[in-house]
Amino acid sequence: GLTYLEKFRDPSLAKNLVAAIHKESRLTLRLMEVCGTHTMAIFRHGIRNILPETITLLSGPGCPVCVTAQKDIDAFVAVSRQPDVIVTTFGDLMRVPGSGTTLAGQKGAGADVRMVYSVFDAVTIARQNPEKQVVFCAVGFETTIPTIAAAVLMAAKEKVTNFSIYGANKLTPPALAALMTTPGVSIDGFILPGHVSVITGVDAYRSVFETHKVPSVITGFEPIDILHAVLMLVRQNESRVPALENAYPRAVRESGNPKAREVMHQVFTVGDAAWRGIGLIKNSGMELKPDFKAFDAGARFELNLTDVAEPKGCACGEILMGLKTPVACALYKKVCTPMTPVGPCMVSSEGACAAYYNYG
Ligand code: SF4
Repeated sequence: GLTYLEKFRDPSLAKNLVAAIHKESRLTLRLMEVCGTHTMAIFRHGIRNILPETITLLSGPGCPVCVTAQKDIDAFVAVSRQPDVIVTTFGDLMRVPGSGTTLAGQKGAGADVRMVYSVFDAVTIARQNPEKQVVFCAVGFETTIPTIAAAVLMAAKEKVTNFSIYGANKLTPPALAALMTTPGVSIDGFILPGHVSVITGVDAYRSVFETHKVPSVITGFEPIDILHAVLMLVRQNESRVPALENAYPRAVRESGNPKAREVMHQVFTVGDAAWRGIGLIKNSGMELKPDFKAFDAGARFELNLTDVAEPKGCACGEILMGLKTPVACALYKKVCTPMTPVGPCMVSSEGACAAYYNYG
């Protein structure tokens, strides 16, 4: 017999799903995989090539580095310029160009910028360097925010007062709602993120779904999961009965993980957030609550940030809304490559431009 995981990679199962999709799909469909991890999986497994030509897969606003506003990237760089500061960040963020330079560029110029795998590493670095200010660049979705909250709670409890975060965390459902009201955006179905939904549960999408009635399926990251979601979206469209369905019940519960959300809401409160290309989305961000304001790097340093334009010619924002594909960007492959990225969609391994470049 097949192991549990093998079942989700079984070629004969995949073949059956692909056959069913071809057989049942008649309408021209634009389906958006909201999550960057799905984008990567879709490319790595060649899923785009085995679907009917009438089905287009679009990458959505679910790559945390990609949706980070230019102003926030500039803020991270500005923090790294402060005296006696150690900036800690996830790897992808290091190479995203701000309006001047990148965090990696700052590191090359002598700033103390360190890549960490977990926000808890940043707290450890703070403990080990009491004479320095240690700032964590907090860029994440519902999957990551509870962990960041837990790190803040730990720093508060252990009085690691030289630790702070620069927050650019974001919530998924408000972004989907914003997409649906953006002129020009046309989406016939959402492939909803697996990891994010483990925390949010199915319930978190209910209000977006009820308002816009877009076929929506939560799924996992194995080829079978993704193909299964595509088939479900085809069926919903063909039958004209949109639904919010969970194709990932082995990981995602209706109510998600209330405990993780409780930790998140203990430290953060919902606020507005700026998304690259999309702009300000109401109630789509997470701000530190008054009790934890001491851990806000934005308040700790005088950064004097000004509003800045996104890189000239970069279509990242439109790509994140499914308005364009990377090949429609004039800079794609010519000026912008993974070695010389202009925008974050080419930097992040989860970015649509990087996926097109590496597998397209
Ligand atoms: Fe931006 Fe580069 Fe993607 Fe064009 S190819 S949208 S410049 S990241």
